Amino acid sequence: MNIDLRSDTVTKPTPEMLKRMLSAPVGDDVFGEDPTVNELQERLADMFGQEAGLFCPSGTMTNQIGINVHVQPGDEVICDQLSHVYNYEGGGIARNSGASIRLTQGDSGRFTAAQAEAAINPDDSHYARTKLISVEDTCNKGGGCFYDKQHLEEISALAKQRGLGFHLDGARVFNALEESAIDTNEYGSLFDSISICLSKGLGTPGGSVLLGSKPFIQEAHRVRKSMGGGMRQIGILAAAGLHALDHHLERLQEDHDHAKKLETLLNERSWVEEVTPVHTNIVIFKLADGASAEEQCKKMAAHGIHALPFGPSKIRFVTHLDFTSAHFAQLKQIFEQHL
Ligand SMILES: *Cc1c(COP(=O)(O)O)cnc(C)c1O
Repeated sequence: MNIDLRSDTVTKPTPEMLKRMLSAPVGDDVFGEDPTVNELQERLADMFGQEAGLFCPSGTMTNQIGINVHVQPGDEVICDQLSHVYNYEGGGIARNSGASIRLTQGDSGRFTAAQAEAAINPDDSHYARTKLISVEDTCNKGGGCFYDKQHLEEISALAKQRGLGFHLDGARVFNALEESAIDTNEYGSLFDSISICLSKGLGTPGGSVLLGSKPFIQEAHRVRKSMGGGMRQIGILAAAGLHALDHHLERLQEDHDHAKKLETLLNERSWVEEVTPVHTNIVIFKLADGASAEEQCKKMAAHGIHALPFGPSKIRFVTHLDFTSAHFAQLKQIFEQHL
């Protein structure tokens, strides 16, 4: 049995998901004529209290398009030093939007309204014009932690008061909401734009949706075209998203339970110095004596357990739909016998 904990993107579509994909009604989505894509966009927009949605190939694209609609070249984006939009999107904010970035030093990727406020530039021609605040929930590099409602309300109020856009990188927003239990509609209404991945915890082969107001999404449509992100009869992929919303939301707690069990197991290992407290489906741990993460990953891979180094001496596990109780039992056995 292969145990793949490298990411929650490694899941394969279930037979039921494939069935839904094969029977999806489709049309040309560049013309806005794919009924399945339209259904998915409308369903997510309704859930999150937004007016409209735009289906895109990846979460990087929904973030980058969202940011591009908010800013002009020379403007500045506030985000955390651990954020995906800064670290893992190929320098996309600079490349696609010509915008400058102000990093906050938050708590595991989460920053406060006070920290955001301190990062807003004065209205003075010496400075880049601050235009957008971007948060990530859950925070990937922060170990999968999530925001509480009050903090988000405060940042949202600050953005409104200062005339700034407020963007959510919600690649794992359903993992966040599973734990924070904030009402999805109230939560979504705090933001001007939201990026949601369907290929992470929800287990589809691809696809992300950008949400916002009608005029925002109209503009986003234009940007998607210019980035080459327009797809045609892509309802076959959107159908996987609809299936996931119907069947894979209520099981996310399983992933979180598995992550907690992995945390306990890792804490018992002499070669682990510290496990970052687990909040959702991400487990980050530090090896004892500064041991090499790459070497340890190789050792585990020899026993069929696959993980990613997350720094020179840190490793990340991510639990998902295809990591079952049987996988956990096998991993436990391998750990106890060999590692
Ligand atoms: C995965 C992820 C994205 C999107 O990445 P893609 O590889 O383009 O799907 C965006 N933000 C966060 C926090 C992520 O984990």
